[in-house]
Amino acid sequence: MQQANETETKAPAVAVDDLHKSFGELEVLKGISLSARDGDVVSIIGASGSGKSTFLRCINLLEVPDRGRIAINGEEIRLTERRGEPVPADRRQVERIRTRLAMVFQSFNLWPHMTVLGNVIEAPVHVLGVPRKEAVEQAEELLGRVGLYEKRDAYPAFLSGGQCQRAAIARALAVQPDVMLFDEPTSALDPELVGEVLKVIQSLAEEGRTMILVTHEMAFARDVSTHVMFLHEGLVEEEGAPDKVFRQTSSERCRAFLSRAS
Ligand code: ADP
Ligand code: MG
Repeated sequence: MQQANETETKAPAVAVDDLHKSFGELEVLKGISLSARDGDVVSIIGASGSGKSTFLRCINLLEVPDRGRIAINGEEIRLTERRGEPVPADRRQVERIRTRLAMVFQSFNLWPHMTVLGNVIEAPVHVLGVPRKEAVEQAEELLGRVGLYEKRDAYPAFLSGGQCQRAAIARALAVQPDVMLFDEPTSALDPELVGEVLKVIQSLAEEGRTMILVTHEMAFARDVSTHVMFLHEGLVEEEGAPDKVFRQTSSERCRAFLSRAS
């Protein structure tokens, strides 16, 4: 009972309410809301250009929303305006919140001049102030988990795309984030390398990590998600449990998208 109460009263890991974002005249997000609790795996699907990346980028303030609210573990991100543009009110709050979220991009974004190990320890050592020796030990453990321990001294140029993405996931995990954000983590990979990356992401889901994932891998979204959101032109057209979205949707657009996507 006690535990049930705690779950009910604890703030969601990520709470987004009525998010709006335009680029010039183009209104990309038209009021999107999302609540992810600890351990939730939320998949965001939808056609190219529907606003999936922009939504994800707003959550960690790579883009600043025009309107709406974002709260991470109950802490609301304070926004203000400068010369008519939305900006965070407090840079330090943004930096603090960014360390609670870690993003994995389609294009890996590893530092090319650093080894795999160098990439993984960079943020712990230089942002979080973890002693180097400790950071290296932790990084080696993470590289073991993503199957890259042997590649720790290699430079990204000498890795396959799948290895690069697994290194990027280890790097994201190294800051011990509360929430992992993935933006099409397998879209840049050759088909035969997709599976090894999905396997790593699935193992994170099974560990109970909170994740928000933009993906084109429909079977994967159906199998690992606790919640699926289908975006259409900047709005949530359909959402719910995977079964509802993938098998029982009443949205014609969602059905058409799924039949094209699979
Ligand atoms: P998705 O990830 O679903 O493909 P995006 O969020 O990347 O969609 O893009 C949604 C729309 O916003 C697209 O029309 C895209 O061209 C536009 N857009 C995204 N980022 C910017 C930007 N920084 N400046 C101008 N337009 C942008
Ligand atoms: Mg995108």
